[in-house]
Amino acid sequence: MKWFERRKRVEKESKRKEIPDGFWIKCDGCGEILYKKEIMKNLMVCPKCNYHFRIDSSIYESILLDEESFKAEDENLAPSDPLRFRNYPEKVKKAQKKTSLNDAIICGQGKIEGRDIEICIMDFNFIGGSMGSVVGEKVKRAIQRASGLELPLVIVSATGGARMHEGILSLMQMAKTATALNKLNTPFISILTHPTTAGVLASYASLGDVIIAEPGALIGFAGPRVIQQTIKKELPEGFQRSEFMLGHGLVDMVVHRKDLRETVNILLGHLC
Ligand SMILES: [Zn+2]
Repeated sequence: MKWFERRKRVEKESKRKEIPDGFWIKCDGCGEILYKKEIMKNLMVCPKCNYHFRIDSSIYESILLDEESFKAEDENLAPSDPLRFRNYPEKVKKAQKKTSLNDAIICGQGKIEGRDIEICIMDFNFIGGSMGSVVGEKVKRAIQRASGLELPLVIVSATGGARMHEGILSLMQMAKTATALNKLNTPFISILTHPTTAGVLASYASLGDVIIAEPGALIGFAGPRVIQQTIKKELPEGFQRSEFMLGHGLVDMVVHRKDLRETVNILLGHLC
C-alpha cells in the first residue's frame, strides 16, 4: 500500500512538471485562474470579467494593423546615459534583452484596412513604458512624418510617465512632443491603455483629436495613492479609470480591445 501511495505521488509531481511556466494566468480583475492559450485567443481579455491584460507593442501591432504592413522607423535610436544615473545603462540593457526593442516605443507606417497611417505603440515592458529622450524624439519624428506624408497619426500609450533616469531631459520631451503636435495638419487618434499616466498623459497622450481608452485603464497625472495622501479624502469608486475619465470629459470613447481596429478605421473614415 505504501509503495502504491508513493508511486502515485511521484506521478503527480512529474505531471505537474510537464506544465510549462505561464500555462495558467490569474485574472487581476476577478481572481479567476484562466487558461493562457484561451485568453490569448481572446486578445488577452478575461472572458469572465472583461479585464484587459497588459499586452506588448507587437500584439497591438497585430491587433490594429493589416498583416505585415508595419514598417518601423528609427529602430536604431537607443538611449544614452546623459546624467550618469546609477544603474541606468544596466537597466536599459536588461530591458532591451527582455523586449528586443531599443526603447519603450515602436514607430513607423502601417495600414488599417488598406489605409496608410503613421503609428506609434508604447511598450510597458521597457522600464514601465517610460518616456526618455528616445521615446520623445521618436514621437516627434513620427508626428513630423505624419505631417510630411499627410498620413493620420495613431499613438497607443502604455506608460508610467517620464523616465526619471534622464531627469529634465525626459521632462523636455513633453514640451517637444506637444509643440510638434501643435503643427500637425492631419488627424490624430490617441489610444490610452493601462496605465497611461504622468508626463505622457500630460503631453501627447491627451492631445488627440479623438481620445480612446481601453476599459478599466488607469489614466491620470498623479496616481490615486499620491492624491489620496495629499487631499486626505476617500477617493470615489473607479477614480481615474477609463469609465470615470469618460464621465469627466477627458476621454471620448471607451472601446473594448476587440473593437479597437474597427473603431479606429471608422473614425479615420470620418476624419480623413
Ligand atoms: Zn477576470
